[in-house]
Amino acid sequence: MFCITRMAAAHCGKQWQRVVLAAVFAIAASVTHAGYTTTKYPIVLMHGMSGFDRIGAIDYFYGIPQSLRDGGARVFVAEVSAFNSSEERGEQLLQQVKNVIAITGAQKVNLIGHSHGSHTVRYVAAVAPQLVASVTAVGGPNKGSKVADFVNDNLREGSWLRGVAASVANALGQVISFFSSKPGYEENAIAGLLSLTSAGSAAFNAKFPQGIPTTSCGDGANVVNGIRYYSWTGDRVLTNIFDPLDAPLGIVAPLHGLFVQNDGLVSVCSSKLGRSLGVYSQNHLDEVNQTLGLVDIFSVNPKTLFRQHANRLQSAGL
Ligand code: CA
Repeated sequence: MFCITRMAAAHCGKQWQRVVLAAVFAIAASVTHAGYTTTKYPIVLMHGMSGFDRIGAIDYFYGIPQSLRDGGARVFVAEVSAFNSSEERGEQLLQQVKNVIAITGAQKVNLIGHSHGSHTVRYVAAVAPQLVASVTAVGGPNKGSKVADFVNDNLREGSWLRGVAASVANALGQVISFFSSKPGYEENAIAGLLSLTSAGSAAFNAKFPQGIPTTSCGDGANVVNGIRYYSWTGDRVLTNIFDPLDAPLGIVAPLHGLFVQNDGLVSVCSSKLGRSLGVYSQNHLDEVNQTLGLVDIFSVNPKTLFRQHANRLQSAGL
């Protein structure tokens, strides 16, 4: 139906290419076998800034824990301060990793962090490598986010606006904490913001360099201290016309610079950690299948990526 005129032929070819690719992805997702996501070590999912494990029936990693469990994985969803420094969130996660190990009897865990969750899981792997089998960053601002830089630069130190914004964010953190039945962790929006700036992330990387690429946009070391490091991310912003959160991401995306590939909040180059697994047609929220599963229907589904990754960990004996 697309190929009516010669002028439309190029566009048409591209459309059909996308349809065929979507069909291939759907078929590939449907032929996975029982035990496809069964890993030796439990998987622990770690949310980003302003995140939570679950509020009511809504997962932060929307539908992903169940999708992984359906294939045999043991999945735990961690919850730490919505807003706090990477180190503080990391200490909170470390305690939860120890709990998972105590509950399951496993020796280690596979950590997967989205967004600020990347710094959080990297911290645990750096300070307690004996407890970690793998670290995976999804849309992780490992070298900082230009959006965080913009906010930090424009809400000047000591200004009333910065104080108000911090208070609102901290209050939001408490509300999230209440509705997700989170333990009463301290919320510190400014500490969280500073952790995600380019300077804050550079300071964090100097202390915890494991898996960080030494080049501006290459891969990092695939294995450090016996731990495998992986990452993937997105490079589109407007992916689903029904998702109301695409537009805000579209507004901030240009902060990364002209022609700089990004997912709205994080550039592709900043997301790199360990072995890069791919760049997909996803924005920062699509990466965790939000909002409520509204993602690019012509691209690989985020749940499929998590399932494929669990299978990859299985193949690696993890
Ligand atoms: Ca979306």
